Amino acid sequence: MTLPPFLTGLRCMCCGAFYPPNAPDAPCACRPNTGSDAGTLDAEWDYTRLRATIDPATIAADPDPSIGRFWPLLPISERAHLPPLAVGPTPLTHARRLGDSAGMAALYLKDDGRLPSASLKDRASAIAVARAIEQGAPVVAAASTGNAAAALATQAAAVGLPAIIFVPKTAPAAKVAQLLTFGATVFAVEGSYDDAFDLCQEACRSFGWYNRNTGYNPHMSEGKKTVSLELALQLAALRGRASGAPFAAPDALFVSVGDGCIVGGVYKGFYDLLQLGWIAQMPRIYGVQSTLSAALADAWRAGAKVPTPVNARTRADSISVDAPRDARKALRAIRASGGAFVVVEDEAILQAILPLARLGGVFAEPAGAAAWAGAQAALRDGLISAGETVVVINTGSGLKDVPAAMQAVAADGGGAQLIAPTLDALRAALKI
Ligand SMILES: *Cc1c(COP(=O)(O)O)cnc(C)c1O
Ligand SMILES: [Zn+2]
Repeated sequence: MTLPPFLTGLRCMCCGAFYPPNAPDAPCACRPNTGSDAGTLDAEWDYTRLRATIDPATIAADPDPSIGRFWPLLPISERAHLPPLAVGPTPLTHARRLGDSAGMAALYLKDDGRLPSASLKDRASAIAVARAIEQGAPVVAAASTGNAAAALATQAAAVGLPAIIFVPKTAPAAKVAQLLTFGATVFAVEGSYDDAFDLCQEACRSFGWYNRNTGYNPHMSEGKKTVSLELALQLAALRGRASGAPFAAPDALFVSVGDGCIVGGVYKGFYDLLQLGWIAQMPRIYGVQSTLSAALADAWRAGAKVPTPVNARTRADSISVDAPRDARKALRAIRASGGAFVVVEDEAILQAILPLARLGGVFAEPAGAAAWAGAQAALRDGLISAGETVVVINTGSGLKDVPAAMQAVAADGGGAQLIAPTLDALRAALKI
């Protein structure tokens, strides 16, 4: 098996142990469990050789606009191993009307709800499928009720690799439908999510399946970092490349947080660019959690290394997490970037859905809308200022959770009006 050409290895964020690039896609032996205190491994890259070999202008000019353009920075040995279902780019839009409504002069929306399976998770699942192919694994597997499983089923279908998904018996039928549609084999486990997770771990170990589980597989945040690489390219292009540089970083960036893998990946993308000298400064990264699922925000405020589990019950199901599995990467992202955690009420999350759509053109599921609720709270609290360049990432499409959209509309007093099929009735209803 050939190895990713610029990956030097993986370092444990708990004990500092170093693993070669061909180490198993698993946590460090110091803490092989997968809870909040897992032996999380962080990929390390040969930035000196990358800088000498890769021209950022070539990446910017690549005729393939998907994440394939970043392949030297991805844990794959060949670009062609990525599934053919293009992951990215997703739009980065200067959201003038939404920004004006909130008093933000330079607000940008990055809509990852527009990836193939309708959430940011495709960025990680494409890497999982590519690595599974490189390792000759017969099956890719994950335990998840939500977007990670949908993304894995989608990317696996694109290359004809069998996907096996373990969900708790109580998983919502609509979410399971997306998995089944893409041909995944789904096991509804009699037990909790943790039981499903444990069975998936055991099955992968016993049968040699490729394990995509968040917090277990160290390469998932490397896939998710492409959201930062991509938006930095787009931001430079939107600003007309005044400085001539192909990449540009915003001042601040907002993203919602559950397990912490996405925010960890967002940080890693900008860290790569900074190490390569392709951006001048690290943006401040703000992680947004619901008050009803705030384990990482609590740990950040307490200065803790590891979060204390909570009993999460937020309506935003994609960020409802008791014991975050990628805590170390999440806390590093916030601390090392000089950002903060912001917590918002579920009510503010649902209220953020309508302005995002009406003024920003983005249809977000609650976990995605949380990021916009958090940006507004941060402006109120003085964490960001009105003139700063701010990027808000929508992590999932509103079509993932239509009942939440219906709830937001109903709370706004909206609803279809019943009328007779005549112009007179329409005139009366419009009062014209
Ligand atoms: C998975 C997910 C998140 C949270 O990502 P973590 O890596 O668990 O922090 C946020 N929003 C959406 C839509 C997601 O699917
Ligand atoms: Zn370790």
